[in-house]
Amino acid sequence: MKLFNSMTKTIETFVPYNGPEVKMYTCGPTVYNYAHIGNLRTYIHEDILEKTLNYLGYDVKRVMNITDVGHLESDADDGEDKMLKGAQRENKTVWQVAAFYTDAFFVDCEKLNIKKPDIIAKATDYVPQYIEFIKTLEAKGYTYFANGNVYFDISKFPKYTELSKMNLEDLRIAHRDDVEEDLHKKNPQDFVLWFTKSKFDNQAMKWDSPWGVGYPGWHIECSVIALSNLGEQMDIHCGGVDHIPVHHTNEIAQTESYTGKTWTKYWWHAEFLNDSLGKMSKSAGEFLTVSLLEKKAFDPLSYRYYVLNSHYRKQLAFGFENLEMAQTAYQKLKRKTLALKKDHQEDLIITEAGNKLRAAFKETLADDLNTANAITVLYDVLKSDLLDAEKVSIIEEMDRVLSLDLLKEAEVSEEDVNSDEVVWIENLVEARVKAKADRDFAKADAIRDELKAKGIILTDTAEGCKWSRI
Ligand SMILES: [Zn+2]
Repeated sequence: MKLFNSMTKTIETFVPYNGPEVKMYTCGPTVYNYAHIGNLRTYIHEDILEKTLNYLGYDVKRVMNITDVGHLESDADDGEDKMLKGAQRENKTVWQVAAFYTDAFFVDCEKLNIKKPDIIAKATDYVPQYIEFIKTLEAKGYTYFANGNVYFDISKFPKYTELSKMNLEDLRIAHRDDVEEDLHKKNPQDFVLWFTKSKFDNQAMKWDSPWGVGYPGWHIECSVIALSNLGEQMDIHCGGVDHIPVHHTNEIAQTESYTGKTWTKYWWHAEFLNDSLGKMSKSAGEFLTVSLLEKKAFDPLSYRYYVLNSHYRKQLAFGFENLEMAQTAYQKLKRKTLALKKDHQEDLIITEAGNKLRAAFKETLADDLNTANAITVLYDVLKSDLLDAEKVSIIEEMDRVLSLDLLKEAEVSEEDVNSDEVVWIENLVEARVKAKADRDFAKADAIRDELKAKGIILTDTAEGCKWSRI
């Protein structure tokens, strides 16, 4: 397996700390609103990373945090409590808001066939551990207390810019973003480990601590949750590229100061999804969610297909025309895979040609997750001279990684059974059977095409004509 390591900025051969066991950490969502599809792009690529590692024989233990504490998203003591803002907007408690959007996040993940990580850790469940962690950093001399907050002193950690490769002046600008500078800091990049005082006084979630009643900083969540669940060293830490200059830089500083060891072997980052305004975010432009895509008649898996046709380290431009094209290609692909004869063959032997395609698929994924090429290999399987049974077996295997449901016929739900659309479909299917019996093949074909245009495919079986959705 070759993987780009953001720490060394090179593609490296992947060698985990502990043989086939891989410890993987992914920064999770902040749950005060729905996830937008730009964030979900990162989770789709992370899902491919995990599934590729499993496919290549590694045993992955993956942890993800849920940021359910309503702190700032930036370090300066300015801004607003996002969770509280969500609660006021929806007339709920902050805890209800967090629970609601956590569930919504996993519903979206399920629709996109993103596997749930083995361990999902809510930030609010680890408060005693944050306090212990900060006490240790304090005892080691890495912190200072100013204006009611506990800060991490970055001058005590000489490798501070190792991941970002930025000089401190550039970092200062990246940190500052659009917030006011905090004059209580010794260095502009110092960050808060524990807040008892911030410019917004209505913080809803608060806990007692040796420094006073308050709440933890953001970065500390990931460090402590990773240490608690994966031990002092881990193999891969994932996230979006926007986490490099501040969040991941701060995670490294506090974690390595705490343990005295190199923490993460490979840093993995996915690029942005851009809309017409640039980087997609929760606050700018149209708020694009999975439900919105569904409302616009897009299958969430078309979005997955669209994302997989890009490389995780390249920015991707989003537009509905692009998604439309991806959906058409995806449906066409699915029609082809569903049309393969799925007769189960007990003694199926994969031929040399079949094994070559399997090896090509494996190689392309092992080459820094080249998912677009992996999909090309899948098309090669369809185009090959292999027998249908062999094609099905190989595509099944590939789809365990790609997770595009290529061989899964859409199920007809209970409420769907009596819907107007189903009645319409069944009337047409019946009319087609009659047309065929009358040897009116032109009419039969026209009906088949009409249904196909609506995403309904027909299969003639021994028990009669069956229909399914793409
Ligand atoms: Zn994180």
